[in-house]
Parts: sequence; C-alpha cells; structure tokens
Amino acid sequence: MRSKPQHPGPPNGHLLAACVVLLLGFSTQPTAAAPVAYVIHISIDGLRPDAITALGPSNLPNFYRFRTRGAFTDNARSDYDYTVTLPNHVTQLTGRGVLGTLGHGWTANSDPPSGATLASNKGSYVAGAFDVAHDHGLRTGEFASKSKFVLFDTSWNAVNGAPDATPPDNGQDKIDVYLNIGDTAALVNALVTNMTAQPFGYVFLHLTDPDSVGHASGWNPAPGSAYSNVIKLMDARLGVIFSLVQTNLQLAGRTALVLTADHGGSGTDHSLNTLKEDYTIPFYVWGPGVLAGADLYRLNATNRLNPGTGRPTYADPIQPVRNGEAANVSLKLLGLGPVPGSTIGTNQDLALTIPSPTDFALRLAGTDAVLTFTTRLNVLYDIQRSDSPGMGSWSNLVTNLPGTGGVVTNVDFGALDSAPHLYRLNLHF
Ligand SMILES: [Zn+2]
Repeated sequence: MRSKPQHPGPPNGHLLAACVVLLLGFSTQPTAAAPVAYVIHISIDGLRPDAITALGPSNLPNFYRFRTRGAFTDNARSDYDYTVTLPNHVTQLTGRGVLGTLGHGWTANSDPPSGATLASNKGSYVAGAFDVAHDHGLRTGEFASKSKFVLFDTSWNAVNGAPDATPPDNGQDKIDVYLNIGDTAALVNALVTNMTAQPFGYVFLHLTDPDSVGHASGWNPAPGSAYSNVIKLMDARLGVIFSLVQTNLQLAGRTALVLTADHGGSGTDHSLNTLKEDYTIPFYVWGPGVLAGADLYRLNATNRLNPGTGRPTYADPIQPVRNGEAANVSLKLLGLGPVPGSTIGTNQDLALTIPSPTDFALRLAGTDAVLTFTTRLNVLYDIQRSDSPGMGSWSNLVTNLPGTGGVVTNVDFGALDSAPHLYRLNLHF
C-alpha cells in the first residue's frame, strides 16, 4: 500500500519554524492491532507457480495483483513427505506436517470412510484454523470442490468438534457453512452470495480445476497448453473474489486473501515427494497492511530460508515458507493466536510488511530541512515531499536510498524559502 498517504507523524518541536510548517509522514501502513476483519484462505489444487510466470500479467491480472500489490513467494513448499491433496489440505488448515508425533497423521487421499475424523485417525483431537476463529466468535465457512473435503466438516462438526474453551461458548460446530460443489464457477458464486449476505471472518476455498486438467492432460506450464488455459480460468475465479472484496462496502479495506496450493505436478502426476515440480508451490498474501510487491524471503531474511530447488525437512533450523503456514498467517491477520498443536509458523512471525521507522525526524539548519531516520538493512527508501498534500501530489526528493541498519540523513536544501511542505517516507525493496 505504498501509494496511500498516512497521517503525519506525532507533533514535534522540530516541525515548526518561522512561518513555514514542515510535517512528516509515512506512506506504508502502520501495523494496527487487527486491521483485517475477514480472511479468505484459497487453495488452488495442483497450482504450479511457473505456469503463472509463463502467462504473465496481461493474461493473469488477478494472480499478478497478489504479486504486485501483495507479499508473495513462488518458492514455498508443500508437506515434506506428501505431495497429494488431502494430507496437504489438512496441513494447511491445522498448521502441522503429516507424519510424526506432532503431525496431523492423515495420510489418505481418497474419500474418508463414513464418520472418520482427524481425531479418530490420530487418536487425539486435531484442531484447525476453524477452531480458533469460531471459538473467538467469527463466522466460518468451507467451500470445497472435491468430495473428500467432507473430512473437515465431519471432524469439526457439532458432535466431533472440541468444546469452546474461549467464553462465550460458540459451540462445537466449528464450520458454520459447508458447501461442496465440483463446479468452481458455481462454488465461487456461492461464496460471493454468502459473503455478501453475512461475511465470514475466516473462510476456506478450494478450487480443484488445475489438478483435474493436470491429471488428464499433463502439468504443462507453457502458454497454450490445457493446463495453462485452466490457470487463466482460475485467474477469472480470483477476479470474482477481488471484485467482491474491493467493492463490497463491508469488506473493502478490511479483507485479506491468503493463496497457496497443496502441490504442483509433472507429467500427469504429483505424488512423487522428491520432485521439485511436485513440492514447489506459491504462497501469496494480499490485503491491508501487506507490503506491495514484497518477496516473502526478502521480508523474512532472518526467519525463513529460500530453499532454492531443495526440499528442507521440518528439522531444519530456518524453515522455508510452507503451505502449512496458511492457518497461522490467516489467524495472525485476524489478530488471533495460532492453532493449538500447530508446528508450522506457530509463533506467527512471517512478516508481511516492513515496520516504519519510529524516529523519522526533521531539524532546520539555516533554510535547509535536515531529515533523519533509522533504516533497516535491505530496505530501500524514497523521501517524498508535497507542497499541497491535500491534492495528493508528491515528488521524490531521493529514491532508492539503501537502508544500512543505521541512521541516515538527507537534506532538502532551501526548504524554508518556499511554501509549507509535508515529507513522507516510502519503504520498498
Ligand atoms: Zn491430484
């Protein structure tokens, strides 16, 4: 949200001099406690990020809206052991890997046996993002396009869901609306209808089409292939969702989208967990407070490691971005804590923006304005000035000033000679 002007900084004795008023502000959004009221968590089945790159922004304006207006990576990872649909969706919703004592334990990828739940399979309750959202009073929804996704509605229904330990008691049924429609155009329309009538605080949407086409015709990312064409169709689905969240008065400016996938694919399969085409997936976040165009690995240089073409285990000290982060990133956006029992992104530390400097300050030296602020390494700063801020006209004094980790100083020579000025910083990479 780089272009959005912010409130000027706090009043400061340095801001007034003679008859010239100098004000300071930032053009990144400050981190609010919970700027987001609604999260739509989208998983596109079998989505390969290189198919998005191959088609480009003119073919995929909505995927590219995530890339240019959101924070993203095309190099996230699926579960380590499994690159098939249902285990990876349990991972997305629970924030757990599949195997091991801390894993969710759901390895099957077919329709669950009647009445089977995550808890009956694991031998103990397995909580998901729905638990946290619903227990905190949010309306929740699951909109899926494969029949096996009934697993979630069964696992977290009025009988099998955990008692709500967070007063008031919102009940054991953690998913308020469950819809399963194979036709994803109809599914997305139903989501829009429901969101318009009564918004979901947290809703999960699964779009099956790329997986179906991949199995039938191959995961060929080249434009013109059947697989590539279905990615364009998915872009149209995203366009319907963007239209909703940007035009609906209740949702606009208060809704975030989290987009990832369960796995990629190669040939007509995706089950080989050692194949990079199978385990490489996108992870995109768009919404208020998310830095436009930011690469998630650059934003998280110390706490996430770009795995290159590798396949890091869960034991690696610095983890890649994983699809299993979707649950805890969604909850963080909503101002909620992590999923109990989760192990992926549990400390909710995936940064989606850069904190603005708290010490952006100005002093006068003769007729010059001296601007100082503490920078962060790897971040680029533009210092902008407006002589008529109400008109939205800003000009760059300096662009792409590299952050050093220390304080930088910049002088606007002769600032006192002309009209009042407003200064602001624009942070980016
Ligand atoms: Zn599949």
